[in-house]
Amino acid sequence: MFELTFLGTSASAPSIKRGLSSAMVLHKEYRFVIDCGEGTQRQLLKSGLGFKRMDRILITHGHLDHILGLGGLMSTFARWESIDSVEIYGGAWALDRVRMLMNVVFGEGIPPIEIAYTELSPGTVMEDDSFELIAFPVQHRGPGCFGFTFHEKEKRPFLVERAEALGVPAGPERARLVKGQAIALPNGRTIAPDDVLGEPVGGAKLVFVGDAGRTDGLVEVARNADALVIEATYTDEEADMARKFGHLTAAQAAHLAADAHVRQLILTHISRRYSERQILDSATRIFPDTVVANDFDSFRIVKRET
Ligand SMILES: [Zn+2]
Ligand SMILES: [Zn+2]
Repeated sequence: MFELTFLGTSASAPSIKRGLSSAMVLHKEYRFVIDCGEGTQRQLLKSGLGFKRMDRILITHGHLDHILGLGGLMSTFARWESIDSVEIYGGAWALDRVRMLMNVVFGEGIPPIEIAYTELSPGTVMEDDSFELIAFPVQHRGPGCFGFTFHEKEKRPFLVERAEALGVPAGPERARLVKGQAIALPNGRTIAPDDVLGEPVGGAKLVFVGDAGRTDGLVEVARNADALVIEATYTDEEADMARKFGHLTAAQAAHLAADAHVRQLILTHISRRYSERQILDSATRIFPDTVVANDFDSFRIVKRET
């Protein structure tokens, strides 16, 4: 299960109702911030999420409406003793711009907070035994734009009834079998993991795309996602503007969701030029299970029931 909270959902400039791009994904002990537009600090406080354990920031790309909030946020962190290091992940171009911003905030010397920059390339960013974070390339304006897949790994359920029938006692022996190790029973019989584990069951999949100008490379990435988050900056009436500025229309986003058989489409990066209703109508004609995200909306992303 992933918990996704939107902190800012406006395109390019804030509106009265919407802050600039930022979101947080919570999973187990992890807290990931995705993008950090201007005003994100205050949105974090208003959302109730606060700053604690906020040490991983993923940047989709280097446009200012996605990174300017890092200036204020890092300046606040530097004054707080509770957060002494932050890891920022992004493409080379985005990280160059973030470094420049940090030089403005802290000067050219060593910043008073440890900032680690991790340059993204397509593939696994981090993983543990049950969770994987994957970066994938996105076509927008400028090089090195990325989206992110949050994925619970497949696991094999422990079949209690079968274990009991085989005489496997409750306790550490079962934990060893779950880890894939065989055990020996007191009667000398060996029990293999395959004897007590069921078929693999997949976990929840959340695909998060920031700004994007094309969707053709994203169908495989988004395939069967439980939730797909993606921008919808324009409607079809202004498809030429969308093309010119490397953005998507709500209809393009909806076609992607349909082609990839996702369970739910969540649209963000909403322009002040449209009402929420216009964006929603445009998308739901093609993909009914669509919502337009508002600031502070939260979603629990769980595995699709089959
Ligand atoms: Zn943007
Ligand atoms: Zn952009």
